Amino acid sequence: MEKVQCLIIGSGPAGYSAAIYTSRANVKNLLIEGLQPGGQLTQTTTIENYAGFPDGIDGQQLMAQMRQQAINVGADVRSGLITAIDLCHRPFVATTDSGEQIQAETVIVATGASAKYLGLDDEKKYAGMGVSACATCDGFFYRRRVVAVVGGGDTACEEAHYLSNLASKVYMIVRKDYLRASAAMQKRVMEKENIEILFNTNTLGLYGQDGVEGAHLVRFKGTDKEEPFDIAIDGFFLAIGHKPNTDFLAGQLALDDNGYIITDAVSTRTSVDGVFAAGDVADPRYRQAIVAAGSGCRAALDAEKFLAAQ
Ligand code: NDP
Repeated sequence: MEKVQCLIIGSGPAGYSAAIYTSRANVKNLLIEGLQPGGQLTQTTTIENYAGFPDGIDGQQLMAQMRQQAINVGADVRSGLITAIDLCHRPFVATTDSGEQIQAETVIVATGASAKYLGLDDEKKYAGMGVSACATCDGFFYRRRVVAVVGGGDTACEEAHYLSNLASKVYMIVRKDYLRASAAMQKRVMEKENIEILFNTNTLGLYGQDGVEGAHLVRFKGTDKEEPFDIAIDGFFLAIGHKPNTDFLAGQLALDDNGYIITDAVSTRTSVDGVFAAGDVADPRYRQAIVAAGSGCRAALDAEKFLAAQ
């Protein structure tokens, strides 16, 4: 069985920063990239709020550079997925999707979070046929068409703005009577003539023959002003937040009510000695790439200190 001092699970800014720091500290590491190498930033366009890039940087490019930097300082970066892990005894044993087992003295969980869906049957029915949770991945298919984006946060505004440059019209379906997004993002969508915001609106379902042709919506749901109506659309984009990727841990680490890993207040320590968490998987509050990168550094330093104390 392969043995490492630090197994890093996940390849977003947290995972790569942890890999850079552990490598430079001469800790024998192994980073397993997971289902979406590079993480959520590979699904976005230009990143303008990651310090050090005055003109912004493309998300894919930023992640490719982080990966290369980790490799350059000696990190062992491999594709694959950790499907199971036994955290009951140290050294821990992780199993990959190809059946290999890895023995690790410490583990840094940096598996991030995945897009949430509304839970409608129609989302499954039309998966890949008009339903998407990534405008930058799929927006290209909707040039000069009509699309809807669900959500009122920064992601929804960013996706709606991006789509408005491709599609002929973009609806935003917002369940409250206001946008939760930052003032700057709100201004951006308000300024676009082809974005129409449907406030106080929920989605009931989707319809269409061989793909999405429209959505059944309802205004003022659950009140005496309730008003069902339909919109004709070709694409339906979800942007209602994310769920932390902690299922593979199978209840072995303490999680909060929403599934985020609970860490010690002043470090990245989890409920199991030798296991640390970094990035969005343990961060319901900030969820920013730069914060994730910082927490990857913290997790690496915590793991290094833990190893030194053994
Ligand atoms: P948020 O949690 O901030 O927003 C989610 C949105 O989806 C809210 O409008 C919420 O409505 C709505 N929503 C949630 N569940 C449902 C549902 N079941 N039905 C209908 N609507 C629903 O998530 P984001 O992904 O937008 O942002 C996450 C974090 O990342 C935030 O901190 C954000 O600031 C940050 N971010 C920053 C960016 C940037 O700075 N460039 C870009 C993207 C994200 P309600 O308000 O009613 O709860």
